[in-house]
Amino acid sequence: MPIILNNTRYSEPDWANSVLTGYSEDLYKTHKYATDLISDVSEGSRLDVKEEHVEEAFFFCLWILKCIDESTLSSRFINEMRDYVVREAESNKDPDVLESIAQGTGLDATRLDETFSVHFVDFIRYSKKLTGNAYRLVFQPLSGGKVEVEPRILVNLYREKFVESSFKFLASIKKTEALAALSPMEEFISSVKQEYLSRRKKEKVDLGNVDSSKFPPCINEYLKLMREGVNLPQMARFTLVSFLHKVGMNSSDIIALFRSAPDFNEKITTYQVNHITGEISGTVYSPPKCSVLLSNHICFKGEDPLCNQEWLKHPLRYYQIKKMRDMGKPQTQKTEKKVN
Ligand code: SF4
Repeated sequence: MPIILNNTRYSEPDWANSVLTGYSEDLYKTHKYATDLISDVSEGSRLDVKEEHVEEAFFFCLWILKCIDESTLSSRFINEMRDYVVREAESNKDPDVLESIAQGTGLDATRLDETFSVHFVDFIRYSKKLTGNAYRLVFQPLSGGKVEVEPRILVNLYREKFVESSFKFLASIKKTEALAALSPMEEFISSVKQEYLSRRKKEKVDLGNVDSSKFPPCINEYLKLMREGVNLPQMARFTLVSFLHKVGMNSSDIIALFRSAPDFNEKITTYQVNHITGEISGTVYSPPKCSVLLSNHICFKGEDPLCNQEWLKHPLRYYQIKKMRDMGKPQTQKTEKKVN
């Protein structure tokens, strides 16, 4: 059964409280299921997601997470559930069901025949973090304000919408109301929080001799998102790994840094990092230029004065200039041009 996100009954504190205080087998199962999921996510284990009561348990978990109030833990949970709903959507071959799954998140999508039409506003909004021409509006035929997409593309847009709607729901819960509604499980909530914080402390990695205060905004944003438990787009990961390697961080410290990512997989991360750093590929990769990061919507320069210099073309140049400024050596454009 898909998780329908635009169901307003779960946003009521009375509903959350009824899961704890109501007398029915369904409520008891929802409570038990949600506490199992929260325990798993706080211990860093993969979630054992089962279909029965999944929607109720999902929303009740968001109420619990509001009480715990740890953004990385919440992100981890939402990302795990995202992977579950995507697996479910991908395994579903019936286009009508796929249409109702997508519409259940509020995505403006309609079945055509074997394809779907998505309103261009939703298409742009939910394809921002996705890479490839299939997600750039300029390469898509537009008819009546709608973009025609294959099921595979629809599932990826649905994935992004699911994440956005879940965070929106979480943000809509008032913490004081959550704490009051869930007061009977106060001990469970504080024990999960303690367990989670002590595990995070052990996982913490510092950046060694690398001077993170000189990092450009894009790299700082990727690090921040990763610490918050957000899965980075592929290109941001590549940029982060190749940048950190180029500024002197070793492979094992880079791998350790990725441990806080919600979808961390030791084997895959080790392979990818060792590939980018040249340990198994023989090629040491460089981070992409600013123009590439900008066109992939992962630049994040904002109002940063150095990034907004017309001649600043590369994140490594940013780091080099900041380091040189610190050493009291004025940087000229001539020397900047030597760096690729
Ligand atoms: S301008 Fe370049 S260095 Fe600055 S945030 Fe954007 S991509 Fe990073």
